[in-house]
Amino acid sequence: MPAPMPPLEVIGACPHDCPDTCSLITTVNDGRAVKVRGNPDHGHTGGVLCAKVARYPERTHHPERLLHPMRRIGAKGEGSFERVSWDEALSDIAGRLQAIAARDPQAILPYSYAGTMGLVQGESMDRRFFNRLGATQLERTICASAGAAALDYTLGGKLGMKVEHFAESRLILLWGTNSIGSNLHFWRYAQEAKRRGARLVCIDPRRSETAEKCHEHLALLPGSDAALAYALMHELIAHDWLDHDYLQRHTLGWPELRERALQWPPERAARHCGLPEQQIRSLAAEIGRCFEQREPVAIRLNYGMQRTRGGGNAVRAVACLPALIGAWRQRAGGLLLSSSGNFPARRNQLQRPDLFAASGQQRSRSINMSTIGNDLLRETSPGFGPRIEALLVYNSNPVAVAPESGRVVAGFARGDLFTVVLEHFQTDTADYADYLLPATTQLEHWDIHGSYGHTDVLLNRPAIAPQGEARSNAAIFRELAARMGFAEPCFQDDDESLCRQAFGDAIDWEHLLEHGHVSLKLPDAPFAQGGFPTSSGKCEFYSARLAAQGLDGLPQVIDNHEPPGSSTTYPLAMISPPARNFLNSTFVNVTSLRDIEGEPLLEIHPDDASARSIADGGAVCVFNDRGRYHCKAQVSLRARPGVVNGLGIWWRKLGLNGTNVNELTHQKLTDIGQAPAFYDCLVEVEPLA
Ligand code: SF4
Repeated sequence: MPAPMPPLEVIGACPHDCPDTCSLITTVNDGRAVKVRGNPDHGHTGGVLCAKVARYPERTHHPERLLHPMRRIGAKGEGSFERVSWDEALSDIAGRLQAIAARDPQAILPYSYAGTMGLVQGESMDRRFFNRLGATQLERTICASAGAAALDYTLGGKLGMKVEHFAESRLILLWGTNSIGSNLHFWRYAQEAKRRGARLVCIDPRRSETAEKCHEHLALLPGSDAALAYALMHELIAHDWLDHDYLQRHTLGWPELRERALQWPPERAARHCGLPEQQIRSLAAEIGRCFEQREPVAIRLNYGMQRTRGGGNAVRAVACLPALIGAWRQRAGGLLLSSSGNFPARRNQLQRPDLFAASGQQRSRSINMSTIGNDLLRETSPGFGPRIEALLVYNSNPVAVAPESGRVVAGFARGDLFTVVLEHFQTDTADYADYLLPATTQLEHWDIHGSYGHTDVLLNRPAIAPQGEARSNAAIFRELAARMGFAEPCFQDDDESLCRQAFGDAIDWEHLLEHGHVSLKLPDAPFAQGGFPTSSGKCEFYSARLAAQGLDGLPQVIDNHEPPGSSTTYPLAMISPPARNFLNSTFVNVTSLRDIEGEPLLEIHPDDASARSIADGGAVCVFNDRGRYHCKAQVSLRARPGVVNGLGIWWRKLGLNGTNVNELTHQKLTDIGQAPAFYDCLVEVEPLA
């Protein structure tokens, strides 16, 4: 009998939509992943993973993993499938797509997001395929596009402080972020700063785990962040806590911004934000004290605060703040929302937009993924173009995560829509597939990653063989391309060579192969001497580009689509932050994590609960004109008065009444960036009998 193989350790990268992009070490025994741990040699990971990914073996070897291609045999949404061969599935899919493309390839729509953040399995062969086909382009807006556009207009890109330098900051504003839940490795740096004497201030409507552990918590109303930023500016101006030299040399539009900030004294902002006036004054005084003592002030902004109608302008207003006090002069001062603009990824090489010309299409239309509910229900028209006839979904679960699920479900249920879903599990979206194709997980394929929270490139090597008949996304699109007759040589590239192409010689490939991670060479304080990558080279308080679009050139305070307190029918504002053990809709079916979460929850303040006779732990109906969502009430000070927190994102079919929190959200978009306004939503709550 042969001796058993010794356990093997393989270095990889976490693929999930999280700024931390951890380096993973997978222990493999007899071809099975038995343990996944954080790589201690990767500084940002520091040997620590979140509870979700520490359970990766459970997810990877889950008894409900999709292991074979499947074809629908029941009604759409019913989730009944029969097993078919890859050959049968791919031939039929290619044939159906060819028939539609012969009429109009723009009737075919890809739908994907950050189910994996990997450049190979998320945005390489798939994009080549759809470009060559001449399909409709997808605007990938569902999470970050408002903040991304705002940073671009203000700082010149998704750039900012290096995350490790927060450890040296003296005052840290954690703005719109529950770092313990969704940016754990930043929290480690913040804790280090705290141990060295830094003050931590959390700005978030919800009293999250993070807010509890900060020195101060400003529980503002959803959508009021720009007003708070302006009130802080007002106080900095009133007390002359200003770096005049930095303002004069490295900013554009200071006189205009100053004039607008003076319209937002703390008493006005306090009313708008639902905050005590003194809390705003105290925070401004803290910033002023740091300015006078030349101590670094840093802002860790996150995407929660850009999910309201004025979210883009709110990010712009906050992103102006560091320049007022010259915080960028120090490496531990400034702001970080996303570091992804630092990575020299060769996206044109990976995605080959030039292939579109070979499709014979004269024009390309694009569809915003955040309005998929409406767009799937639209007929052919000159303005819209052809009705969507085919949808290929991968790295996403839109039936659960897209806003206004009632419309999304109605669209997916269309009998004449041909839907293909690449997945690990039979999600809510998979239930509507005509073909359900088993995809590999991160432990089973090659990939390469940048990050939006740090500045290292990570390589992911496969640790185990694909489970069952699973194939990587890139392999599936390569096969489909072959069946569609796409003969360009780029459709032959294998996954490992796509990894090599992603950054070319901008990184040391041999180092990456050996260690699994490599740091970009970047300056410590990128804007100490100005040099913002805007067209003016300055931090643009005033944006001529926005003004040229007929928009306000300065950051604006914009009311929500559904302003808190504006409706007597729906008097509560609802935000829907992630439950701690889920990441969007991923991990909801991992039993050990779902057991921790228990049931879908709505946090409600004791005053709002007692006014409605709602008991802690009681079942409630949360409703508005768009739908009704049943869950359990948690009467808790985590919710501020007037705001309820619907923790997400549960799979609909695992909810109490077959819905989730997106039954209530709408498809209206943000001011800039065309993102969904998930946290701009009014509801009422009533106890269920
Ligand atoms: S989800 Fe985030 S914290 Fe968890 S392992 Fe992945 S990158 Fe690290």
